[in-house]
Amino acid sequence: MRAPHAKAQVRELPALDRLLNDAAIAALVERHGRSRIVALLRAELDDRRTGALAGNLDAQRLRPESFAAAVEAALEHSARAGLRRVFNLTGTVLHTNLGRAPLPESAAQAVARALAAPVNLEFDLASGRRGDRDAHVEGLVVELTGAEAATVVNNNAAAVLLMLSTLANRREVVVSRGELVEIGGAFRIPDVMRGAGARLVEVGTTNRTHARDYAEAIGARTAALMKVHASNYAISGFTASVGEGELAALAHAHALALVVDLGSGSLVDLSGWGLPKEPTVRETLAAGADLVTFSGDKLLGGPQAGILAGRADLIARVKKNPLKRALRVGKETLAALEAVLALYREPELLPERLPALRLLLRPVASIERQAQRLLPSLQQAFGTRCEVDVAPMHSQIGSGALPVDLLPSFGLRLRTGKGGGLGRIEAALRGLPRPVLGRIADKALWLDLRCLDEADETEFVSQWSALHA
Ligand SMILES: *Cc1c(COP(=O)(O)O)cnc(C)c1O
Repeated sequence: MRAPHAKAQVRELPALDRLLNDAAIAALVERHGRSRIVALLRAELDDRRTGALAGNLDAQRLRPESFAAAVEAALEHSARAGLRRVFNLTGTVLHTNLGRAPLPESAAQAVARALAAPVNLEFDLASGRRGDRDAHVEGLVVELTGAEAATVVNNNAAAVLLMLSTLANRREVVVSRGELVEIGGAFRIPDVMRGAGARLVEVGTTNRTHARDYAEAIGARTAALMKVHASNYAISGFTASVGEGELAALAHAHALALVVDLGSGSLVDLSGWGLPKEPTVRETLAAGADLVTFSGDKLLGGPQAGILAGRADLIARVKKNPLKRALRVGKETLAALEAVLALYREPELLPERLPALRLLLRPVASIERQAQRLLPSLQQAFGTRCEVDVAPMHSQIGSGALPVDLLPSFGLRLRTGKGGGLGRIEAALRGLPRPVLGRIADKALWLDLRCLDEADETEFVSQWSALHA
């Protein structure tokens, strides 16, 4: 039943014109323009009319002042939504859903400069003629990998698609069954193969593939042999696979190309710093691969990009493929990639300069000290609602890189009685001005501090006053 005063309340709602004459609302019009404020006022009026008709509108909400406050709140809310800075305390360093590698300041500045003014993106300053956008990074990739030539596209998925579409459209590509991987986010080698118009010829078995399996599959329609880095899973036990060197020899004996999707791909040997060994792009090319693809924002530590490196004649064909135009990168990506690649010229300094590597190499003792430092502020913020302590945990590299190797780390463990209410605490942390993202496991919320920059600690701690769990 409609409340008896509902109709009267609807009549009492202020008219739009009257609201626009209110001083606080006029000030908002001044700052945001009339159309935006009118739209928000109309939405408020609709909302309150509905409330009045339902008989549950507080009389306070009929007053013009309450409209100004509501419009201000709506403006603030919409300014906040969208792409926001978060604290990645998930324990996954290169987290795909959180934008993977954080860029060094030099790269962020290069991006800002490139975006704010015209740049020589496709203009050769030496000759005054039209230039090639790849030229800004190709020299660096060649220098750092030993490739003859290179080109850059939007991501590694695009690089694989472009490579296959160029070399194997309407022809066959031979791949081991052990390497038909799904990378996540719907990147599956068989699907990409189909998208590129290539026919997949599977050889071997999931756990064992031999050189003779590849040899027997080669026929008149074969365009290439392909190897795919198994990125996000590991096969152990009774296994066999064929290395790049042997496969390259086989491919070349049949005048075919060996192409390799390295996935993460690394430009330097990470085992020198105690990280697990990943094949480098240089080693893969030196072993005989004709074309290699890898991501810009995985272990390389740069912006989202896919890099193709290898034989000059193949890169030239790739660049003539009309798909290249559809998959090419913008000036912001090239600016960031150039700045990051430049750091690799002085590899000894990378752990200091490249944030992704710095995070991966953080000494566990320093993370533990940080956890002890931050513990009191969390204990105070949560009071009796949950128990917070410092706990050892394990970080992961992420992005499909080196899935089985976990990095010892430290962080804060939040536990509630019997594990109830953890979801509410997790949501409250997610609702902070700079959301804090952890991981729920074993009836606890784990905040791995490996990725909390010491420079961000003050901001991290200052947020607890905004916590309403
Ligand atoms: C990550 C990955 C891809 C996809 O790379 P994106 O840069 O995310 O597009 C493709 N292949 C392999 C083997 C990978 O590890």
